[in-house]
Amino acid sequence: MTDYRPPIDDIVFSLKLADFERLSAEIPDFAHADIDTVAGLLEEAGTFMAEVIAPTNRDGDVIGAKHVGDGDVVTPPSFKPAYDKLVESGWLTVPFPEQYGGGGFPGSVGFAMQELVQSSNMAFSLGPLLTHGSTDAFLAYASEELKDTYLPKMISGEWMGTMNLTEPQAGTDVGALTTKAVPNGDGTYAITGQKIFITWGEHDLTDNIIHLVLARTPGAPAGTKGISLFVVPKFLVNADGSLGERNRLQALSIEEKIGIHGSPTCVMSYEGATGYLVGEEHKGMRAMFVMMNVARLSVGMQGLSQSVRAHQHSVEYAKERVQGVTASGEPTIVGHPDVRRMLMTQRATIAALRHLLVLNAVQIDLYHHHPDEAVRARADEVASLLTPISKAWGTDLGIDNTSINIQVHGGSGFIEETGAGQFWRDVRISAIYEGTNGVQAADFVGRKMPLRGGQSFLEFIAEMKDSVRDIRGAGEPFAGLADALDKSFAGLEQVTGWMLQTGASGDTKSVLAGSVPFLKVWALNLGAWLLVKGAIRDDAPADEFALAQFFVSQLLPETKALAAAATAGADQLYAVSF
Ligand SMILES: Cc1cc2nc3c(=O)[nH]c(=O)nc-3n(C[C@H](O)[C@H](O)[C@H](O)COP(=O)(O)OP(=O)(O)OC[C@H]3O[C@@H](n4cnc5c(N)ncnc54)[C@H](O)[C@@H]3O)c2cc1C
Repeated sequence: MTDYRPPIDDIVFSLKLADFERLSAEIPDFAHADIDTVAGLLEEAGTFMAEVIAPTNRDGDVIGAKHVGDGDVVTPPSFKPAYDKLVESGWLTVPFPEQYGGGGFPGSVGFAMQELVQSSNMAFSLGPLLTHGSTDAFLAYASEELKDTYLPKMISGEWMGTMNLTEPQAGTDVGALTTKAVPNGDGTYAITGQKIFITWGEHDLTDNIIHLVLARTPGAPAGTKGISLFVVPKFLVNADGSLGERNRLQALSIEEKIGIHGSPTCVMSYEGATGYLVGEEHKGMRAMFVMMNVARLSVGMQGLSQSVRAHQHSVEYAKERVQGVTASGEPTIVGHPDVRRMLMTQRATIAALRHLLVLNAVQIDLYHHHPDEAVRARADEVASLLTPISKAWGTDLGIDNTSINIQVHGGSGFIEETGAGQFWRDVRISAIYEGTNGVQAADFVGRKMPLRGGQSFLEFIAEMKDSVRDIRGAGEPFAGLADALDKSFAGLEQVTGWMLQTGASGDTKSVLAGSVPFLKVWALNLGAWLLVKGAIRDDAPADEFALAQFFVSQLLPETKALAAAATAGADQLYAVSF
C-alpha cells in the first residue's frame, strides 16, 4: 500500500479557478477566509490526514468492522485512536457556524478538506460525512432546542450522525417506506420499523449516535408527501446535556460487502424508539434533500479521492517495474506508450474533476451566503446543474481510474497484497448510493434541465462559449484548443436543444433513455472547459496545458459518440424482450 501525498497545490489552484476569492471579497462573514489562510489550513490538515488517518486504511479493509454480542459493532483497533485525534484536531468543525462551535469557514473549504480525509481512508471518512449531512439538515430545519442539544457535539465530532432512508422495499423509491412514527402525547414520537444499509448505524467511536430517520405518522398521505423526519438518538439526552437512558433501537447485523469494510453498514431495528420531529410533519423529504445534496457532492468527491490514491499508486509502480525496452528509453514501464496513456488519463481526469467539484462547492457557498439576491439565484441554478454531474461523473471516474491502477500493476494488480484492489472495491459503491448514477441522470434531465424552460442550461452554454474568446486571446498555443472547444460547445448546444425539444413534445421516455450519455456529454465539455480555462492563467501549474491538450484531443471527442446515443430515442432499448 502506497503512502498518501496530499496534492495541496492542485486543490488550491482549483479553488482559485473556481473564483473562491469572491467569497472572502464579497461575503462579510467570510472576510477572514482569504486564499492564503485557506491554503495554510489545507497544508496542515493534509499533513494530519496523511500521518494519522491514512495509516488506518489497510486495517479498515483487512480487519473491517464486526458485529458482536447483542448488537454492538467494533471497528478495527486503529480507528478509535485516529478518530479521537481527528476530533481533538478540530478539522471536523471547519465549515460550520461559530455559534455551535464551528470554525466559520465556507462550505467549500470543508469540502476541499473532505478530499484529504477521504483519500486517507474512504470507509472511515463516511462517519464524518454522514454527520456533516445530518448537521446541515439540523441547521436548516430543527427547532432551536434540538439544535442546542445536538449540534455542538455533532459539529465537534463527539457524536456521530446517520441517515436512515432505505428499507427492504424502499430503495430508490423512498416514498415506499413504512417505518411508523406514532405520537406519544408528550411531543415525542414512538418510532417503529426496520432500516437497511445504514452507514455507521452502530459503532464504538463515539458515546452517542444521532440517527435521522424518515418515517410516517398515522394517516400520512402515501408516497413522499407523507414522510416526516425524526431525530432518534442511541442514548436519550438529559436536560443538562448528559447521556440518559438507552433508546429502543439496535443494529441487528452488518453487511459483508465488496469494499469499504471499515464502514459498518447496518440493519437497524427501531422498536418504539423515542424520536423528535425535525421541521414540519410530512415535510421530511425537504429536510432529507438538504442532507442528500451535501452528500451527493461528497460522494462525487469519493470518486476523486480514490482516483488520486490510485494514480499515486500507479505512478509509483510504473516508475519501479522493469519490463522490456520502452519506447522512451526509460528503464521502467513508465516509458511504454500504453502505460503513459493510462497515467495521463488518470491525471487529466483528476484535474478536470477536481476543478468541477470545487466549482460546484463554491457555487453552493455563493447561493447560501452572497448578499446579492441575483447572484444567489444564479448560483443556485448552477449548483443544481452541476451536482448530478459531479456525483455521477465523479464516481464513474473513480471506478475507471482505480481500475486503470489495477491494469498498470499487471498481474500484481489482481493480487490483494498490492492494495490496488482496495481502491477499486471501496469506490464501487459510490456509483450506487446517494441516488444511483442512473437516477442522477434522470434528475439532470427531469428536474434540472427544465428549469426556466431550459434557459438555465442554455445560459451556461452561452457562458462557456463566451469564454472561448478569452482562450483565443491568450495567444497562439491556445488557438487549437479554442477551435476544439468552439466545435464541442456547438455540439453540446445541439444535443441539449434535442433534449429540450423532445422533452417539450412529451416524449419523456426518449429523454430518459438518453439521459446517461447526455450527462456525460456535459461532463466532458465541462472538464475540457475548466482545464483550458486553468491552462491560460498565469498561475497555472506547470502541467495544466499538457493535461488540457490531452483531455481536449483524446477524451473530449467521445462526446460525438455519446451525443448519438443521447439522441437515439427509446425504441431500441425496448426492441428486445427480457
Ligand atoms: C454500502 C451501502 C451504504 C449505504 N448507506 C445508506 C445509508 O447510510 N442510509 C440509507 O438510507 N441508505 C443507504 N444505502 C442504500 C442506498 O442508498 C441504496 O442502495 C440505493 O439508493 C439504491 O436503492 P436499492 O439498493 O434499493 O436499489 P433499487 O432502487 O432497487 O435499484 C436497482 C436498479 O434499478 C435502477 N432504478 C431504480 N429506480 C429507478 C428509476 N426511477 N429510474 C431509473 N433507474 C432506476 C437503479 O438505478 C438500479 O440500477 C446504502 C447502500 C449500500 C450498499
